[in-house]
Amino acid sequence: MLCGILHTRPGSDGTMAAAGGGSRALGRALCVITGASRGFGLTVCRDLCARLAPGSALLLVSRSEEKLRQEAGKMRERWPELGLHWVAADLGTGDGVRRTVTAAEEMKREQEAAETLIIINNAGSLGDISKSFVDITDVGEVDRYLSFNVSSALCLTSSLLRTFPRRPGLQRVVVNVSSLAAIQPFKSWTLYCAGKAARAMMFRVLAQEEPDVRVLSYSPGPLDTEMQAQVRTQTADAELRQLFINLKNDGKLVDIEVSARRMLDVIQADAYKSGDHVDVYDKV
Ligand code: NDP
Repeated sequence: MLCGILHTRPGSDGTMAAAGGGSRALGRALCVITGASRGFGLTVCRDLCARLAPGSALLLVSRSEEKLRQEAGKMRERWPELGLHWVAADLGTGDGVRRTVTAAEEMKREQEAAETLIIINNAGSLGDISKSFVDITDVGEVDRYLSFNVSSALCLTSSLLRTFPRRPGLQRVVVNVSSLAAIQPFKSWTLYCAGKAARAMMFRVLAQEEPDVRVLSYSPGPLDTEMQAQVRTQTADAELRQLFINLKNDGKLVDIEVSARRMLDVIQADAYKSGDHVDVYDKV
């Protein structure tokens, strides 16, 4: 398994100030973050590190082994009191999901005393947005898209909840990084809208079934990431493409650190209804 355990030192003194929303308020936590090698996921990891109590541990997941190693190493230097683990796994495959669960199980042995479990389903892709609805005719292409963007988020979350079952003293939090596309159609984003809508609904079902689990679907707003660059260059619909080009040119994309902080503040304040869809612009 392409998995690294860079450092774990429970109990050492943590001196870094929290990035926002209060100091170390998430307690001793075990966090799994998918899509952690860049973009929103990486920014969330950095902010999260500043909020966790010493002895907490993070598992960073994406396909890029080298990038994960580097980023986990940098975080370890800054927060030596945290355990920084990573696993290079393709979440578009059952094997990638299984290897991620195995890595989390290995961490569990060091984390029996965790007060919080945080699962952040952040990894995602746009699919081929150069195509309109009527251009999508290949069932295999659709299956591959849904396998990564929907099936893996479901099966990874369910497996992790089974690995870390309900017990007194453990608060479990599940985050679905969502999008306005979950609730609003956008031309040429058939797969993306369908995937985000499916995810939002399946996490609402989780909230209904497991009342002790706090479930949040968070829409981070338009961020200046690789995904956003793809939106500007590949969106088939000219009007939508131009809208995002204008957002970039006019400096109206949402600051990625502001959005990550907002999401973690919402989780920390615990002031949302489980299963709800919260947007970066919402007042919770
Ligand atoms: P990026 O494309 O910049 O990053 C995507 C992350 O997912 C990377 O870490 C990538 O790492 C990982 N990833 C991609 N494919 C796989 C795979 N098969 N298996 C495992 N990991 C994978 O995206 P953003 O940071 O922009 O987006 C993050 C989330 O925010 C997504 O869910 C997106 O839908 C959502 N969002 C983004 C918006 C935006 O404007 N950017 C707006 C609204 C929502 P690697 O390549 O190493 O695998």
